[in-house]
Amino acid sequence: MTTPYTKPLPAPANEELSRPFWEAAKRHQLIMPRCNTCGNVFFYPREACPACLGGDLDWTPVSGRGRVYSYTIVHQAANAAFQPDAPYAYAVIQLDEGPRLVSNVGDCPIEDVTVGMPVTATFDDVTPEVTLVKFKPL
Ligand SMILES: [Zn+2]
Repeated sequence: MTTPYTKPLPAPANEELSRPFWEAAKRHQLIMPRCNTCGNVFFYPREACPACLGGDLDWTPVSGRGRVYSYTIVHQAANAAFQPDAPYAYAVIQLDEGPRLVSNVGDCPIEDVTVGMPVTATFDDVTPEVTLVKFKPL
């Protein structure tokens, strides 16, 4: 028997726009919005391309590989539900394809996390409905 997940779950501001991202994560695939007009791959999902303002958008699979752009080590979690995980690495990841996203870097000692560190996506099935995208050293 597994322990129920009791931490807060993602609450997308625009569920319809971000649904493909979360559905792909459940399949353990990382996808990003891509502009069919200029080719820009970006994140977070939105209704227009942030580079050219075009509205002809699709989703494209990305490698899941990137680098730590910035990070902090959380010792005092802002939400008490995450305190048992502290200390943990909370990072901005820049994907090889360009977009940046905020996530955790795990599967390594926190003192190993550095800016520029190569990482790859992992998928944490926290509930039957929700899979979180996290990162580990490549
Ligand atoms: Zn564009």
